[in-house]
Amino acid sequence: METIITLLFFLYGLIFGSFFNVVGLRVPNGSLFCKHRSYCDTCQRTLRWIELLPVLSFVLQKGKCRGCKQKISPLYPLMEMLTGMLFGLSYLQWGFDHTLILSLLLISLIIPVTVSDLAYKRIPNKILLFFAPLFLIYRLFYPLSSFWLSLFGAILAFGLIASVIFLSKGGMGMGDLKYFVLFGFIFGPGQFLLLFFLSTLYGAFGGLVTMRVKKISRRSQIAFGPYIGLAALSVFFFGDQLISWYVSFF
Ligand SMILES: [Zn+2]
Repeated sequence: METIITLLFFLYGLIFGSFFNVVGLRVPNGSLFCKHRSYCDTCQRTLRWIELLPVLSFVLQKGKCRGCKQKISPLYPLMEMLTGMLFGLSYLQWGFDHTLILSLLLISLIIPVTVSDLAYKRIPNKILLFFAPLFLIYRLFYPLSSFWLSLFGAILAFGLIASVIFLSKGGMGMGDLKYFVLFGFIFGPGQFLLLFFLSTLYGAFGGLVTMRVKKISRRSQIAFGPYIGLAALSVFFFGDQLISWYVSFF
């Protein structure tokens, strides 16, 4: 039974992942709720249902549009797959607990922001503003050990990241700041510090790889949002294990 439910969560995740791709790509240019059905970015042809199956369509079409034969970015099926796996993991880890709601909310925030930051180097305000009240309501019902911890986490995040922006003169942007502050609120100060540490670790590693591969030299050309999201997911799913490993080292 558990396996069937996990599989269902995975399948729902694939479908939601497909929607999150659309959100991440269309929100920044204001076309999310325009009347167009899904279309090919290159030839503008409306896609048929057979071209809209998450992951499967990409594989069947060998990564190309059926009309214009333009390559489709592997980012889309990857994000669908990732969302599916994270939805499945959410159920496995939390079961039908209220934490499952937080888990699905976090994934629904992180995937579109990642898509948008990778595609446009932007973390859209609209996505953050849509989710901020939902997390606020969640924390009103299920606060950290005290509600003050959430506020303290947000203030700490703001102070820390604002200083980083000021000192690094453009290493991070305002979008990153707001994104971090939201996570400070959700996780509280302790886990936020772990999140910040991991994001810089992932960012440094990912930045080096990206600069090698794309042969660019400026750090500011690299989107930081995906690393923040990855750090948030690491803390959320594995935070306790990470901390106990760390403690056992000393
Ligand atoms: Zn096309």
